[in-house]
Amino acid sequence: MDYSHLKTWHTNAREKTLHGRYITQSHILPLIQNLSGDFQVDLLGDSVQGRPVHAVTWGKGAFKILGWSQMHGNESTTTKAVFDLFKWLSDNSEVKEHANLSSKITLKLVPMLNPDGAEAYTRVNANKVDLNRDAQDRTQPESRILHQLYTGFKPDLCLNLHGQRTIFGVGNPARSATVSFLSPSQDELRTVNQSRKKGMAIIARLAEILNTFIPGQIGRYDDGFNINCVGDTLQQLNIPTLLFEAGHFHEDYDREETRAFMFLSLLGVLESAILKNWEENDAYKPYFSIPENEKCFYDIILRGLKLPEKGIEDLAIQYEEQLHNSAIHFVPKIAQIADLEKYTGHKEFDFQGAEPVFSSDFVLQEGAILEELEVNGKLPTTFSLKS
Ligand SMILES: [Zn+2]
Repeated sequence: MDYSHLKTWHTNAREKTLHGRYITQSHILPLIQNLSGDFQVDLLGDSVQGRPVHAVTWGKGAFKILGWSQMHGNESTTTKAVFDLFKWLSDNSEVKEHANLSSKITLKLVPMLNPDGAEAYTRVNANKVDLNRDAQDRTQPESRILHQLYTGFKPDLCLNLHGQRTIFGVGNPARSATVSFLSPSQDELRTVNQSRKKGMAIIARLAEILNTFIPGQIGRYDDGFNINCVGDTLQQLNIPTLLFEAGHFHEDYDREETRAFMFLSLLGVLESAILKNWEENDAYKPYFSIPENEKCFYDIILRGLKLPEKGIEDLAIQYEEQLHNSAIHFVPKIAQIADLEKYTGHKEFDFQGAEPVFSSDFVLQEGAILEELEVNGKLPTTFSLKS
């Protein structure tokens, strides 16, 4: 596949009815209903609050891929990428070149596993349960839907599609972890067995593809074992499972750029499934060269402020995402007041020891909202994002 051509296709032809961070079932239902006859739509069951959960199936091939997005309701970037993929698969002129895809692959995707969480813009479901810690107990209807799906479909490969916060970076000097991956463990010893190697080989290929677009911005998650996570549970059943984490890219708080990289990653998985790149010797090894994700970023760092009773310190601001009137607001809150030499800000300001002016009712502490800052009578620096 020609990925730079595909990136251009994505810029021009992606599913434009979906935009930004707040993606709910009312956004995706019309798209599901309008899918062409090449797609099969199945109702799998209902969420806690009675919202339907659907699976969309494409292709008739022997190699079966199962994926699900928005298991965490506020992680919508991969959902947008899933519908971009549906649009690409529907675009005959594009798919013609890859006509053998549908005869080799069966792709089954659940675009929104947690529609109640999506509506409320929460990680958890309506009962406040993290579905990615419910794989063993399956106390929630959404967990039972997923369990029934993978036991019935018997996938050869699973895709666990998520989004991550802006706090993750990779490398030294640190760069934003725009996309991160994991081939999860299936035991406490983190044994690298055949099933994990298969996932590692695919991720190594995805990192290779993405490195041409976002060099040094691809991370690898810690593989500590937790049997309550869906990925670890599937690995234990010897089903290779890839964790995708859509992260931050420059000032793209709407995650429209990252969405393209997730789209390319999904296509990279299809390519791997056809070429079976994991059969090559040592194809999994480059996985270990992908740098590990670290918590080393803040949205904004204000350096060298002379603070009352504290002296010269740095101040970190992190946006808190809040849902108001069907829109996500990014509220700038003080996350840390300290020497932040080891951290990087997606945006940084150096005040070189200058003294800020706070209003008399402002309490300088972690958690306080700081919309703007005035220093030395200059125009205030504002931290608000466009709404
Ligand atoms: Zn998640």
